[in-house]
Amino acid sequence: MSVLVYTESWGGNFRKSSFEAVSYASETAKLLGTDVIAISLGQVSDEQLNKLGGYGASKVITCAGIEKGDSQAATNAIATAANNASVIVFSNTNTATMIAPRLSAKLKAGAISNVITLAESTTPITVKRKAFSSKAIELITINTEKAILCFTPNSYQLIETGGSCSIETSSANEKGAITIQGQETASGKISLSEAEIVISGGRGLKGPENWGMIEELAEVLGAATACSKPVADIGWRPHAEHVGQTGKVVTADLYIAIGISGAIQHLAGVNSSKVMVAINTDPEAPFFKAADYGIIGDAFEVVPKLIQEIKKLNS
Ligand SMILES: Cc1cc2nc3c(=O)[nH]c(=O)nc-3n(C[C@H](O)[C@H](O)[C@H](O)COP(=O)(O)OP(=O)(O)OC[C@H]3O[C@@H](n4cnc5c(N)ncnc54)[C@H](O)[C@@H]3O)c2cc1C
Repeated sequence: MSVLVYTESWGGNFRKSSFEAVSYASETAKLLGTDVIAISLGQVSDEQLNKLGGYGASKVITCAGIEKGDSQAATNAIATAANNASVIVFSNTNTATMIAPRLSAKLKAGAISNVITLAESTTPITVKRKAFSSKAIELITINTEKAILCFTPNSYQLIETGGSCSIETSSANEKGAITIQGQETASGKISLSEAEIVISGGRGLKGPENWGMIEELAEVLGAATACSKPVADIGWRPHAEHVGQTGKVVTADLYIAIGISGAIQHLAGVNSSKVMVAINTDPEAPFFKAADYGIIGDAFEVVPKLIQEIKKLNS
């Protein structure tokens, strides 16, 4: 029985989270003494598919006729590929959140979301996951024959094995219950949910015209931009940038919150970041209690200075 890993593509390319998923699957397969098979949905070039071999997949099943957003068809394709798999790995993306529960019901397999560790035991599969908006860690055991593990992006490292993989083309072309008519993608250059560094702005920035310095700071640091909920609600920034309990979850290496008070609903979506920095005029702002580093000061003075100093370091 192998380990099957779902590798998600965007516009025909794999992103870091897919390679992370293969690395995670590969280390899981080592624990089980088996191999890793990847499955890819939608149109993806052989060049991209071959890259999965470099992270430990021995075979890739490619289903060009299935759209990942068609969760019914996607579930059926993955379930077929999972026939000989004991563990199925997903990166905990929005797509995984749609497919994994369906797959769990179809295969009668226990499924765990927000996984943050490799299996601590394989008989039965036992892993740690984050719970209660990352305020607690649970140790969970799966008692079914097949196990579905959805691990948090950025919680596992990329491990290049230098290997190669064979490619098997599936002719599956089922159309499920929905058809995607069009997609509008977020404007940021770096995907927020996968970004290693995130620069986030709140209502303290006073208006959308002041986001130039946030974008410039993001650019010099190679970061994605984000915002608090009210900022998206009043239309200063697109909703795709809203982070928190009701927005996207960020698990960055570095999260810089500028002019954000640090309400519990905001922190719920960002507190899994490895290092958090708050910049705020108010020394009593709740963010300072959660942050690793704090700068008490006016964003309009601090941020331009930061940009200036980072540019010096970059040059
Ligand atoms: C059910 C529910 C769900 C929610 N979900 C979310 C969510 O997902 N995400 C989210 O973000 N919020 C969420 N909220 C809203 C949340 O409670 C807060 O209201 C919100 O996070 C506050 O946004 P803010 O920090 O940008 O604004 P404010 O609370 O207005 O804070 C602005 C901060 O900027 C500082 N400031 C002002 N001027 C400057 C300056 N010149 N330089 C530096 N700092 C300055 C102020 O001191 C202040 O701390 C939710 C609320 C509810 C009830």
